[in-house]
Amino acid sequence: MIKRKSIRKIVFDNFIKKFKESNLKITPQRIAILEQVLSSQGHPSAEEIYNKIKKSYPNISFDTVNRTLLTFADIGILDIVEGTGDVRRFDPNDKSHHHFRCKKCERIEDFYYEDYDKLEIPENIKEKFNIKKIRVILEGICDKCISSYSSSETDSNP
Ligand SMILES: [Zn+2]
Ligand SMILES: [Zn+2]
Repeated sequence: MIKRKSIRKIVFDNFIKKFKESNLKITPQRIAILEQVLSSQGHPSAEEIYNKIKKSYPNISFDTVNRTLLTFADIGILDIVEGTGDVRRFDPNDKSHHHFRCKKCERIEDFYYEDYDKLEIPENIKEKFNIKKIRVILEGICDKCISSYSSSETDSNP
């Protein structure tokens, strides 16, 4: 437990550093939003963060939460996960990683694979764009959805 907590603290301190570098004011609300993102597993949407944060900050608006998350993305604290329909989702994992996305429940799971990190970028893409990151997205049906397929339809609760 202690070890886990201290790793989280290092990540948090790093984020605070980025705040300062970008001349962003460190407000209690921003800290709370940041902590919420860090404590949520996976790739939360602004909606999910908003629903959690309003328990401690009842006056906060969805717009504020959403804008704050976009600001975090702007200064490189968070990543925006691309292309999962209407809902924009955020990714606090700043290590080089790849995604598995379930086509059924939209779950996105991180995985690490060095060979993908070293993928060769096509020459015509390199000429045209400034590539900063490689992320491979594998799509399919996740283990949970497969097991709910094979068990009968009566078990419809997640
Ligand atoms: Zn699934
Ligand atoms: Zn991720």
